Amino acid sequence: MTCYQEVSCPECDSKCITNTGHSLYGEPRYRCQEPDCLTETFMLKYRYRACEPSLSKH
Ligand SMILES: [Zn+2]
Repeated sequence: MTCYQEVSCPECDSKCITNTGHSLYGEPRYRCQEPDCLTETFMLKYRYRACEPSLSKH
């Protein structure tokens, strides 16, 4: 079990996160290791906000 990612869980703010691969869009996926946390996997979508060309795409 690795706990060195510079990522924290959006639910419990735990730093004990492991990388579980990638989503269909190539975004890195993470899993919270806290046994009491309901969040299983999550992605850091907010990191890609600045790269989006348009926010109003209908
Ligand atoms: Zn968590």
